[in-house]
Amino acid sequence: MTAVTDFLASRFEGHKALRRDIHAHPELGFKETRTAALIAERLRAAGYEVVEGVGTTGLVATLSRGAGPTIGLRADMDALPMDEETNLPHASKTPGVFHGCGHDGHTVSLLATAEALAAEGGFSGTLRMIFQPAEEGLGGGLRMIEEGLFERFPCDLVYGFHNMPLLPLGTATVRPGPAMASADEFKVTFTGKGGHAAMPHLSKDCALALSELTVALQRLVARGVDPLRSAVLSVTQIHVGQAHNVIAGSGWLGGTVRTLGAEERDFVEAGMHRLAKAVALAHEMEVEVTYTRGYPPLVNDSAVATRVAEGLRASPVVEMVEDVPPIMAAEDFAYMLEKVPGAYLNFGMAKEGEANPMVHNPAYDFRDELIPVIAATMVELVRAELPET
Ligand SMILES: [Zn+2]
Ligand SMILES: [Zn+2]
Repeated sequence: MTAVTDFLASRFEGHKALRRDIHAHPELGFKETRTAALIAERLRAAGYEVVEGVGTTGLVATLSRGAGPTIGLRADMDALPMDEETNLPHASKTPGVFHGCGHDGHTVSLLATAEALAAEGGFSGTLRMIFQPAEEGLGGGLRMIEEGLFERFPCDLVYGFHNMPLLPLGTATVRPGPAMASADEFKVTFTGKGGHAAMPHLSKDCALALSELTVALQRLVARGVDPLRSAVLSVTQIHVGQAHNVIAGSGWLGGTVRTLGAEERDFVEAGMHRLAKAVALAHEMEVEVTYTRGYPPLVNDSAVATRVAEGLRASPVVEMVEDVPPIMAAEDFAYMLEKVPGAYLNFGMAKEGEANPMVHNPAYDFRDELIPVIAATMVELVRAELPET
């Protein structure tokens, strides 16, 4: 065992207890005050200079050890607005709030990384530990950037990571280029004319218009996107009508669009406006389209991700899983990767013969054994980028 794994083993019980404490006291996005305070205290004790309140409840901890590059590492701290159904002793004490994505584990894993790097030293350069709020759909990473994250705390490269219940514990993966999708939201509202269901010629039927648009939208991806590239358009809501004998005079549909590339994103957005107008024209109705861009695609810097992949292949701690395809879920870290080159890793968490519920499942729980695996790997990756002393 190396000094770093010894150090992490000696701290494991403490890290596990802290992770379970944060799990039992989950906080929603931009409300992570208790979590941030716990982490800030420990980072200061480890020798970091901590600035709190970056992006509302986020914090940045800096440790400088001489000349060299500046490396940023980011974890997310927020929980999900859902109930936990694990019945574990450390289950959430707050109804309707649950660490169902393992951000409690990410937070403690990054703290463990920070402590190990500070304790072991041996490098020249600067570390920045970025604890972001509100990853779950609220764009806490973007808010940190808007509040000057990389101007106030410049980084030469930045790493992020997530647990992955679909891969075995002890594995890790990284993918050069696009790795996760953008996530946009849309709503299309038709206004026609209500009337008696037995006299359709006197009305303008929004149920029919919404049905036609739902089908028409499917052509955008099926017939408009290069089959070797990726996009998803899902209509997830259709709201129309109140009675079996009344033609609805208004109604709306909504859903999500996910793409891995800017070109597909622009194409689907423009196509949606075009088709909605065409259906409205055909039905002599008014239409309003709201298309809201959310997280951008997550694109790993090719050079950095290639170096990370080499590091994972050589790692004594994890086994690299090769050629994992991109996923069409989205991730707030994408905003940071738009500003600073870097890479986003996934760490396997599944154990054979166990249920291994996926993130966002009410039965999910972060596996504490993953804390030293993530921390030891991140320490290796950071040290590979910094000159030794
Ligand atoms: Zn999540
Ligand atoms: Zn997550």
